[in-house]
This record gives sequence, C-alpha cells and structure tokens, in this order.
Amino acid sequence: MSCWCNKSEIKRIDLAVNIDLRKCIGCSICASVCPSRAITIVNGKAHVDKRRCVECGVCISRCPNYAISIGVKNMKIVVATTKGGLEDNVSPVFGRCQTFTIVDVEGKEIKNSEIVPNSYAGAMSGAGIQAGQFAVSKGANVVIAGNYGPNVSTVFSQANVEMIPAQGKVDDVIKKYLNRELKATTQATAQPQIKFGMGQGMGGGMGMGRGMMYQPVPQPFMPMQMPKEQAKQMLKQQINGLEQQLKQMKKRLEELGG
Ligand code: SF4
Ligand code: SF4
Repeated sequence: MSCWCNKSEIKRIDLAVNIDLRKCIGCSICASVCPSRAITIVNGKAHVDKRRCVECGVCISRCPNYAISIGVKNMKIVVATTKGGLEDNVSPVFGRCQTFTIVDVEGKEIKNSEIVPNSYAGAMSGAGIQAGQFAVSKGANVVIAGNYGPNVSTVFSQANVEMIPAQGKVDDVIKKYLNRELKATTQATAQPQIKFGMGQGMGGGMGMGRGMMYQPVPQPFMPMQMPKEQAKQMLKQQINGLEQQLKQMKKRLEELGG
C-alpha cells in the first residue's frame, strides 16, 4: 500500500509566517522570542523578514492577539522596470519608472507575471507617493528598484512592504531575492539634490501674483551611490518624464490661448 505522505512533495512546500496587521498591537513579544531575529516592529506593527524566518512557529504561540499565522509562502513582488517583463532590467528609479512588472511567487517559484504601465511616470509632482500607493494597492509584499526616494520609502515602510535595492535582469534579481542573497533597506537610497522652480531662494519681487497657481516642478532624485551606467539610465528616464511634463504644460498653454 502506498503511503499518502509524499515526502518529496512536502519538501517543496515553502511556508511563511504572516502577520495580520489589523490585529497586531505592536507589543513586540514576537520579536523578543524569535530565534532568527526575523521580526522587527515598524511603525507600531510587526514585520517578518521572510528570508530570515526559519518557520519554527514560536512567535505564533506567543502572540497575545492571535495576529500571526503560517501558510504557504505566496508573495507579490512589484519590480520597477522599463519595457517590463522578466527579461527586462530593473529600473534605477521606482516612482518614475516606465512600467511595473508584477510577479506572483509561490514558495520559490514564479507563478505569474504581468506588465503594467506606470501612469505616474510623468506626473507633475508626487510620482513617488502615487507609484508607491499603486504598488501597495496591488498587494505588494516586496518591491524591487535601483533606488528609492524619501517619499516612496515612507509609503512602503508605513505599509510594511519590503524594499529591495537591486540592479540587473528582473528574473535573476528575483531568484537572488528568493535565495536570500539581497539585503532590504528601510530607508531612502536616493535624495533630491537638484531644485527647480520659482519660489526657492528667488527673493522678493518674484511673486506669482494674486490668483495664480504655483505648481512646483518635481525634483529629480539623484543617487547617493550609483554605477555610471545605472546613473545614465536613471537620468534618461527623468529626462523622459520631464519631457512629458513639458508637453502637458505646452498643451495646457495652447488651450489657454497662450
Ligand atoms: S506578538 Fe502579536 S500583537 Fe505583539 S507585535 Fe507580535 S504580532 Fe503584533
Ligand atoms: S516562525 Fe520562528 S523564525 Fe519565523 S518569525 Fe516566527 S519565531 Fe521567528
């Protein structure tokens, strides 16, 4: 009689600890008992680094609010890309990337991927926040991009989304992530350095007049540390975004009879 228990199948199942953020009260008991130091409290909620977790189950039994459960590891990874797809390269920026490649992972296998254009790539302002919120709305557990600005990193840390800074082919980067070869960041990796627009350091006499709306031009993010090729790609994307904005502004000016 054959046994119902197929050991090789059981081995393939990769489990993951999940935190129900609605139930979590941030007491940090789970973090203190975790032998792998896989749990941190971020913005008052527990966050599990799934790559460190060894699925021992200790935290589950200690949570006073029954906020922790264990199940098959399903993950949604949102990767910032240019053309999009598993063969594309990771975009050096998140907020103003051209597309998102959204990847469903079960255990360590990629089950599905789809390419979604980034509607906020050419936004006049707030591209990082809007793109970040879009990724969260798509159910992202993990995001991957070359760099993260301060606004988008705030969105992700509040939503408990793991930020992985990486470069290279999307497929390779995801495999490296799943094999725990990549390190997450909890902070921005790029900061605004170039300032455009009136109203900043222009002094008196440069007022816009009553009734005129001042629309700030977005500040491109310059990398703190970035290889030359990646920096070039990032600058090209930003130029592309600015050109789109310029087109929108000219169109509006024409509409106004200017
Ligand atoms: S023990 Fe439970 S309630 Fe406390 S921080 Fe961990 S998950 Fe949240
Ligand atoms: S299951 Fe074990 S290793 Fe994983 S987060 Fe809980 S206590 Fe830590």
